Amino acid sequence: MSRCSKCIHFLAGGVNGSDRPPSDLVRTDDVGLCRRNPPVWLPGENGDEGMFAFPAIHQDHRCGEWEGRLPC
Ligand code: SF4
Repeated sequence: MSRCSKCIHFLAGGVNGSDRPPSDLVRTDDVGLCRRNPPVWLPGENGDEGMFAFPAIHQDHRCGEWEGRLPC
């Protein structure tokens, strides 16, 4: 079945907004990051803070850019 968890662009459990490697912070709610495109800048509420972020998406979704992972 084609869904984000089977897509080459999906980082399972990935977390945005950190200066640490992705493996240091892991989500456990089946949400990960879509890395199909580069991160986009999200401005903070007061205008001088923000971060670059990949879209967060549940592993059971998918989009038209789905690309299957190669078998290991
Ligand atoms: S949103 Fe699309 S490109 Fe991103 S991980 Fe899901 S299926 Fe892949």
